Amino acid sequence: MGVSFDKADGSLWLNFDVQPKADATSDADRADKLKDPGFGRVFTDHMAIVRYSAGKGWHSARVESRANFPLDPATAVLHYAQEIFEGLKAYRREDGGVNLFRPDANARRFRNSADRMAMAPVPEAVFIEAVEQLVQIDRAWIPGGEGSLYIRPFMIANEVFLGVKPSSEYIFAVIASPVGSYFKGGPAPVSIWVSENYTRAAVGGTGAVKCGGNYAASLRAQAEAIERGCDQVVFLDPNEHRNVEELGGMNVFFVFEDGSLSTPPLGTILPGITRDSIIALAREAGKTVREEAYSIDQWRADAASGKLKEAFACGTAAVISPIGKVCSAKGDFTINGGAAGDVAMGLRKKLVDIQYGRAADTHNWIKKVL
Ligand SMILES: *Cc1c(COP(=O)(O)O)cnc(C)c1O
Repeated sequence: MGVSFDKADGSLWLNFDVQPKADATSDADRADKLKDPGFGRVFTDHMAIVRYSAGKGWHSARVESRANFPLDPATAVLHYAQEIFEGLKAYRREDGGVNLFRPDANARRFRNSADRMAMAPVPEAVFIEAVEQLVQIDRAWIPGGEGSLYIRPFMIANEVFLGVKPSSEYIFAVIASPVGSYFKGGPAPVSIWVSENYTRAAVGGTGAVKCGGNYAASLRAQAEAIERGCDQVVFLDPNEHRNVEELGGMNVFFVFEDGSLSTPPLGTILPGITRDSIIALAREAGKTVREEAYSIDQWRADAASGKLKEAFACGTAAVISPIGKVCSAKGDFTINGGAAGDVAMGLRKKLVDIQYGRAADTHNWIKKVL
């Protein structure tokens, strides 16, 4: 049993009971799986898991062999989708150590997501400890080079009850998946489809939190993008279908002729940690960054006039993806001749160099795990 006690500052702390897997993957099998892991299909040997029940609070913190969850068919998450998640990465440094990038920001956002979804908040120290414990025990799974270990903390409502109310029981768990270099030979520009029929989030809704339901609701629009021959969907604002919001799972930036950047303001979009980091890095480099609404009509006009030089999407998984082409019912237009732009690629390199420990961490973003 994981023992819980209060730290001196009053925050909850849990001791994780670590039970290494008896028949862990052999070095040869793991090397084979790490050759070309793709994204999200290969998993490490272990998971971290913590349970919550009303009255008892968070308890039974364990790191154990990755295994199925037994779920009663009436488990609340299966019916009312009370579920949230996070995504962050562990990076192998050249000296063999391991970096996490801004795990405190993920812990804070996870707490905000829990609050919006009426779920029990996971104390930030427990969130970070669960991530670190898993990274430590599964460190052999962190690919070298430009690969990384994608870490997926998540929480589900675990009460067996069909009544509509916040669950009295939760499971918080962390799993991890090695991912290769997202792009071989640099990121290829993506094409995006402007969804005019579907929106991602409404004012007062759940757009700003990382809940699975947002993704479920985005899949039809994403399928439409694929049908139109595009890689990704971009959503417009829910009221007027005018201002650009974000992609299904990435934020978006625009780069102008005068060197300035703009990105849609927070509100109904997901407050990306990559977005926040890019704003900081661009401002530090002396660039003006505006957080302001930008309409699809203006985007089209600025691309035609040459005022807009680049556009790119950003998020933890792909870091920065240049947007080469925008497709919509009103016609298509290209950006920067369909090629990756210098500003996007420069910011990408800066960020990735910090993540892998190749550049100075002047913002205190790196947490060394090993
Ligand atoms: C996770 C996510 C992002 C990117 O957030 P990061 O913290 O940068 O990974 C952007 N949009 C949506 C909808 C997301 O779920």
